[in-house]
This record gives sequence, C-alpha cells and structure tokens, in this order.
Amino acid sequence: MTNIKEPAKNFKSQKKLLEVKVNRREDITDDLLKIWIEKPEEYIFKPGQYCTIGINGIERAYSIVSAPYERDLELFVELVPENEGGVLTPLIWDLSAGDSITIRPRAKGIFVFNNEWRKHLLLATVTGVVPYVSFIRDYIKKIEKQELQSTQHEMHVLMGASYLDEFTYDSELEEAASKYPDLVTFVPTVSRPDEQKNALWTGAKGRVNAIVEDYINDKELSPEDTLIYACGHPGMIEDVKSKMVPLGFTVDEERFWKED
Ligand SMILES: Cc1cc2nc3c(=O)[nH]c(=O)nc-3n(C[C@H](O)[C@H](O)[C@H](O)COP(=O)(O)OP(=O)(O)OC[C@H]3O[C@@H](n4cnc5c(N)ncnc54)[C@H](O)[C@@H]3O)c2cc1C
Repeated sequence: MTNIKEPAKNFKSQKKLLEVKVNRREDITDDLLKIWIEKPEEYIFKPGQYCTIGINGIERAYSIVSAPYERDLELFVELVPENEGGVLTPLIWDLSAGDSITIRPRAKGIFVFNNEWRKHLLLATVTGVVPYVSFIRDYIKKIEKQELQSTQHEMHVLMGASYLDEFTYDSELEEAASKYPDLVTFVPTVSRPDEQKNALWTGAKGRVNAIVEDYINDKELSPEDTLIYACGHPGMIEDVKSKMVPLGFTVDEERFWKED
C-alpha cells in the first residue's frame, strides 16, 4: 500500500492514479482558496468523504465541499507555507485552470451524515466546515426532489475563524438557514474580536469550543437526540471531546492534521 505522505515512485505509471484538470480557482485570502477539479467518470462519494489529490507524486487528503450531484469536485484549501512545513499546498497555490493533477479513484472516509440522529451539532474551524457544506447541499437537493422534508433533521453549524474574511461559505449557509430555518442554523464566531481586521464584526465572539456549551444549553440539545461532529483544528476537537464526552454526548471527529 502506498503511504500518501511519501512521494510515490513512477507515480504516473501507477494505474491507481487518474489525471484530472483544474477547472477553476478562487482566491479567498492570501492563504485560503477554493478550487474546482474535474470529477472523474463514475467517481462516487458520500457527503463528508475526502478525495486524495496529488502533484508530482505528492498526495494529500481533502474533504469534498461539493455534493455528489454536482459536476465538479470543489475543495477548500488552507495554505501551509513551505517555511512551516507545507509541501503540497504551496504547489496547489501555483495551479491555474487547465492544469492537470492526479486523483485516487476512490473517495474515502467515515465522517459522514448519520441520519439515525435527529439533531446534528456541526463544529468547525475554517476549512473544517467543508464536510458540512456538502451535507447541507446534498440534503437541500433531496428536499427539492421531495425525497426528504426540512423538518426531519436539524443541522446546527458552529464555525470558528480568527478573522471574518475566512468564513467563505457564510453567505451560502446563511441563505440555507433563512430558507430552511427548521433544518439549518448557522453561527459564525471570531476568536480574535479585538483585532482591527474584525472591527466590523457584530456576530458571536470566542473560539467555537468556548461557545459550544452555551449553545447546547440555549438550544436544549441533549446526548439522547444530538450527534456532535468536530472537524478541523485538532486542538478544537480535543477540547470539545474533553467537555462533551463526560456529559454523555457522542462526538464524531475528522482531524485535518496532528498537533506537534
Ligand atoms: C481526512 C482529511 C481531510 C482533509 N481535508 C482538508 C481540507 O478540506 N482542506 C485543507 O486545507 N486541508 C485538509 N486536510 C489537510 C491536508 O491533507 C494537508 O495536510 C494540508 O493541506 C497541508 O498539506 P501540505 O502538504 O502543504 O503540508 P503537510 O505535509 O500535510 O503538513 C505540514 C505540516 O503542517 C501541519 N498542517 C497541515 N494542515 C495544516 C493546517 N491547515 N493548519 C496548520 N497546520 C497544518 C501538519 O500537521 C504538518 O506538521 C485534510 C486532511 C485529512 C486527513
């Protein structure tokens, strides 16, 4: 089995890797971008799963923003600069529409929507919102096709970021919340409210792990009816688990990286 952290030898000759084109990119900040890549034929995934893409034999996992019905695979990527150990992301930053990258033929992951629970508390730091956007796009499509009703489940998204320009999917999630208020609630929160860049911020303040207990009490979410998901920063995930598991909550997690 190839270790995805190691550059694969003769990667182009590996039948396992498919070549796909970059269709579009959108820069959000200096270190955040959205990128849309061609979806290979017969590429099947569940909302919340990740793809594995590569450049020059270096491969990394990325959760998929898009829902399965969409034409492209949309990704939301944070740059880890080379001087902080980043390897693939500096190469992603050089990509333009029309360039080729590789993708493994199968999406993977078990961080998916569990419809056995009625309520879902979806906690994210920045790019950790990706699986939830996919859950919500997929769910709304199913409502439109009358396969589901907006009152069957609740999805409460709490998203933390240092700065207000990092939320990226806030308009989409706010729109979903206003169109389907029974289904979606969206609370963006900034962790550095006193910094000049956040001067215009009027929303929630504090890290997502700091506001989660008040939110649970306010909405009367209980361990019996609510599944907690935590995705993104490993420190946020650890803190949420240390607070919520002793209260009886089940916490599903997706760590995007390990803390040193
Ligand atoms: C299942 C899964 C899904 C993922 N989905 C996404 C996603 O949707 N978007 C995304 O941007 N990343 C995602 N990642 C992280 C991604 O796989 C890469 O690790 C990341 O993009 C950095 O790649 P790199 O090659 O530049 O640096 P790496 O060689 O992967 O890492 C270099 C160093 O930076 C640390 N690191 C990695 N990512 C970050 C970060 N965001 N902030 C701070 N330190 C970091 C690593 O722990 C390591 O110490 C996901 C990871 C996993 C396991």
